[in-house]
Amino acid sequence: MAWLFEAAAADSIFTPEKLSDEHRLIRQTAEAFVEKEVLPHLERLETKDWPFVRELVRKAAELGLIGTDVPEEYNGLALDKVSSLIVSESVGRLASWAVTFGGQTGLAITPLLCFGTAQQKGKYLPLLVSGEMIGAYALSETGSGSDALGARCRAVRHDDGSFVLRGEKMWITNGGFADFFIVFAKVDGEAFTAFLLERAFPGVSTGKEEHKMGLHGSSTVPLILQDVRVPAANVLGEVGKGHKVAFNVLNYGRFKLGAMCSGGARAVIAEAARYASERRQFGRSISEFGAIRFKLAEMTVREYAVESMLYRVAGLIDSALAGSAAGPDILSALEELAVEASIAKVAGSEMFDYIVDENVQIHGGNGFVRDYAAERHYRDARVNRIFEGTNEINRMLIPGMIARRGAVRAVEPDGTPLGAMRTASTMVLSTAVQQYGSRLGDQQEVLMFAADAIIDTFACDSVLLRSSGSRDPLHDAAASIYVTDAAARVEVAARNALAAMGENGRGKLGTLRELMNIAPVDTVPLRHQLAEAVLSRNQYPFA
Ligand SMILES: Cc1cc2nc3c(=O)[nH]c(=O)nc-3n(C[C@H](O)[C@H](O)[C@H](O)COP(=O)(O)OP(=O)(O)OC[C@H]3O[C@@H](n4cnc5c(N)ncnc54)[C@H](O)[C@@H]3O)c2cc1C
Repeated sequence: MAWLFEAAAADSIFTPEKLSDEHRLIRQTAEAFVEKEVLPHLERLETKDWPFVRELVRKAAELGLIGTDVPEEYNGLALDKVSSLIVSESVGRLASWAVTFGGQTGLAITPLLCFGTAQQKGKYLPLLVSGEMIGAYALSETGSGSDALGARCRAVRHDDGSFVLRGEKMWITNGGFADFFIVFAKVDGEAFTAFLLERAFPGVSTGKEEHKMGLHGSSTVPLILQDVRVPAANVLGEVGKGHKVAFNVLNYGRFKLGAMCSGGARAVIAEAARYASERRQFGRSISEFGAIRFKLAEMTVREYAVESMLYRVAGLIDSALAGSAAGPDILSALEELAVEASIAKVAGSEMFDYIVDENVQIHGGNGFVRDYAAERHYRDARVNRIFEGTNEINRMLIPGMIARRGAVRAVEPDGTPLGAMRTASTMVLSTAVQQYGSRLGDQQEVLMFAADAIIDTFACDSVLLRSSGSRDPLHDAAASIYVTDAAARVEVAARNALAAMGENGRGKLGTLRELMNIAPVDTVPLRHQLAEAVLSRNQYPFA
């Protein structure tokens, strides 16, 4: 979070250009797996052939892809987080598969790894890592999604220390074929607690598959618990500390969701470029039209920004971990980078939504029919803004968490556009903290504006640091376009926030106007340069 208050050096951040040979090998393995084992079987996934999906998880496990975060003693590979990011990007090429994969790795394995006892980890982790057991995570209920702690599922403690669980969970990814569930329930109606359940426990059953807008190749069902007896040894973490399990796990899930969106975005950009090159109207390829080139360039710039943030965050987590794959270390690293994880989730999902939407537009009428993948990408992507904490909840968390850590101050401008954004963001945040203090959480509109300014500031910092470390002019083009547009967005967000806090043109709003008086950049030739690179390679041109 230091990036909000001070400049960093280019060599201090990790970028895709710094991947090692081992990282490239992981990428090759993960991409080849998706290319050969997943994509050709789309129909089997979309028609919910769960035995086939189970088999896919097992095959991914054979290659080590399921256990990248898991220590070797539990049959994992204990790779760094850059490697996990690479694997998440690769699975992101097919959204349904990404969600199944994320359910197994992020939602089932991560909580167990971070909070499990040695006995729990020894019993379940090797089975999950090998894909013999499929896992799911059951937090949400009909009446409690964002308000997860409002769960009604009950656990009654018995004299022998065991618990009896009753209630119903909703929207459980992998639920239709999972063998193992991490379930949240309130002990004696009060103490929110996480439990490890097996499908084989009497009283556990799952309901019908939801008819979803997208992700037809992923299972989403209710989980029904009818007086399920759970031994005391299957409490995950501590009784009454379920919120720690639920919320800390989400930090990593959010980061990985951003990575899946990034991988998906790269595949969709390639698809858009191929279609634009082939489709002819008015006697020319539509890829020659400025309006289409603009879209291809803009898709590329937005993905470049998200990718730059993701690799930077992965590098930061790896530095915090310093080679450790131990649960408590992972937890504290993830807690430290919770702001950045929320940024990755919001920025990644909104970037991807923009890209799938413009891909449909480039496809014209063909984008609206099922014969083309553009239609499926569009439907599949929409949920990313809803799960792993809605984007509204994540937006509010971003400034809220920064404020809670204290030391919020308005940064002096340094004469650069990035410096101006930093000043504007910190001016908004420090004004809000001074004005509302502990009631800041009630000021949702101000928090949302602040989050928008902070997200763009982090994105600009990340693209500028990345591009300054490269001699390729394409990097400068992407960074320059992103910064130009982001500066305008930050100005609007900051203006709205300051006005909402009663500022006027003579005070901070006047300062903001002077601050954001940034020299205009002609982004048209820069966008042409990027569009040309995408079209000539038929793919996203970076990394
Ligand atoms: C395909 C799919 C798979 C899923 N997989 C899982 C899974 O594996 N396990 C699991 O436990 N859950 C899962 N979920 C559930 C998912 O996490 C929830 O849908 C999500 O958390 C949002 O909760 P909700 O649907 O109840 O929406 P609500 O919480 O009712 O939100 C509705 C709207 O109100 C807004 N809102 C809510 N509270 C506030 C507030 N305090 N301030 C401002 N705005 C607010 C939200 O941002 C949203 O726009 C899945 C959902 C889907 C669709």
